[in-house]
Amino acid sequence: MSVIVGIDLGTTNSLIGAMEAGFPVLIADADGVRLTPSVVHFPKGGGPVVGRAASRMRAVEPADTIYSVKRFIGRRAGEEAGAVDYRLAGGRGEPVRVVARGRTFSPEEVSAFVLQKLRADAEGALGVPMTRAVITVPAYFNDAQRSATKRAGELAGLVVERIVNEPTAAALAYGLDRLKDRARIAVYDLGGGTFDISILELNKGVFQVLATNGDTRLGGDDIDAAIVGHLAEIAGGGLDAGAMARLREAAIAAKHALSTDGEARIELPFFTMGKSFSHVLTRVELETLARPIVERTRAHCRRVLADSQLQPRELDEVILVGGQTRMPLVRAMVAEIFGREANTSQNPDEAVAIGATIQAGILSGAVQNVVLLDVTPLSLGIETFGGLMNVIIPRNSTIPLKRGELFTNAVTGQRSMLIRVLQGERELVKDNWDIGRFELEFEPAPKGQARVGVQFEIDANGILHVLARDTKTGAEKVVKMASAVDVSDEAVEKMLEESLEHAFEDMNERAFTEAKLKAEEMLPAVRTALEQAGADLDDDERAMIAARVADVEAALGEGGAPRLKKAVAALDAATQRLAAILVENAMRQGRGRGGS
Ligand code: ADP
Ligand code: MG
Repeated sequence: MSVIVGIDLGTTNSLIGAMEAGFPVLIADADGVRLTPSVVHFPKGGGPVVGRAASRMRAVEPADTIYSVKRFIGRRAGEEAGAVDYRLAGGRGEPVRVVARGRTFSPEEVSAFVLQKLRADAEGALGVPMTRAVITVPAYFNDAQRSATKRAGELAGLVVERIVNEPTAAALAYGLDRLKDRARIAVYDLGGGTFDISILELNKGVFQVLATNGDTRLGGDDIDAAIVGHLAEIAGGGLDAGAMARLREAAIAAKHALSTDGEARIELPFFTMGKSFSHVLTRVELETLARPIVERTRAHCRRVLADSQLQPRELDEVILVGGQTRMPLVRAMVAEIFGREANTSQNPDEAVAIGATIQAGILSGAVQNVVLLDVTPLSLGIETFGGLMNVIIPRNSTIPLKRGELFTNAVTGQRSMLIRVLQGERELVKDNWDIGRFELEFEPAPKGQARVGVQFEIDANGILHVLARDTKTGAEKVVKMASAVDVSDEAVEKMLEESLEHAFEDMNERAFTEAKLKAEEMLPAVRTALEQAGADLDDDERAMIAARVADVEAALGEGGAPRLKKAVAALDAATQRLAAILVENAMRQGRGRGGS
């Protein structure tokens, strides 16, 4: 069996590893360095340059040097993703492309250049061809972003055996030598471009993710942008792209220095119009700029605790991952949120890649006695009567999993059903994302007689497959929701916030819709019953039923769930005797036909 490599394809830095003699080992490049900047420079002549050499070109030729491309992978143009020094292309609603040296590239093509370099380094070091890989992604990546990452691997000539969530990988790295333990841990991963927070339960080799949350657009890049803005203001503004790129380079260096020092001196000779720029940035100044950004992680931590129904004190450890967690302010904030000092035992740059390598080892059989159970970050379901979303897989469900439900026809003689697949946390279809739709044909049947089974399957990579089957004829359709949703994190976040905000309203709307469906079923039934057995009632009873019918009709027009529910219940009560008479009549007739 060939080697499977583990790859952390980061926004800022990427790493590659392989199992050696039963241990996960990260592989260094020709210069002996394990961390490869995820930067691709396109020179005037010759092929693309990747890594440190490309990183040095950021300030020199910013327009032709692509960095942080992970921010655009699987995304569509028009969603603001923050400024970069290179150009973006692609019409609104189309996949984003990046421009360098007059050519356009998809983000997965640029990522593939990074993957190719890692692959070449690993092949050089180990002397064997590498064709299979495990690649990590932020836990909060949606279907489109996962699929695009897989494509990047394929473009680099790799068979992507598994996509693993980054915090889960970090937990594997932490837990591998604690396989006998039982522990609940949180993994707080703040990198250059993304923030992820997950809570896992480790139980004798079983790694179960309890809940996950995060923001794929929150990280060190935002802090860099804040410092650059601050420095540009001090420099007096009006700076060109080259000057901005130099400021960014200086800002990052100062930010790193301030993780250990109290102040950092920034000196840029010949900055603008021959004048040099100099400023001493203090830690206090930096923290003032960074605090609002780091503060944004707090709400996600709260939510993941709520979702896993845990109090901070019930956690055994909070593990820090991602280069940005080296900042003392981040550590202080984590300590405050979770009420304990964070665990810094893992190398924050390497834990995710080590975990990817362990997962590769699990797949190849090199690592045994480890089971990984991950979760899906958003609810999935289909549209049902009355514009309601019927959740089939709730968010934070353990994957891989299959779950199905039976549906029926709303109309007699209906020949097909539109299956509309939705993702999101709201009650009403219109508030969620439509991630795909298809028709299933079935045999015409009276209302409520058709039986259509809909099954959702989320594979181990977090990708959704939908199957619909007419259980009578066995006719079925399987649809892979490949590049299904493409939603921004602002949208995900907004969705979660709104689902809380509107929970009451939504419940009310759902209750109204349900009561309305009941009323619409009852009114014609009562009418028919009155025709058939009305003569057996006295005048008072008939008048009472008529009044109740009128009240239900009025309530339908007015809206408001409690009012309609009450009216429906009153009509139900008023027609009890009528229903009993109907049943009696039917029995008598049945006996009559029986001839007794
Ligand atoms: P990614 O997962 O996005 O590739 P990393 O985990 O490699 O990111 O983290 C990169 C981020 O960490 C960058 O924003 C970088 O500036 C920041 N970083 C790295 N080292 C330090 C440090 N010593 N102090 C503060 N921030 C750091
Ligand atoms: Mg990372």
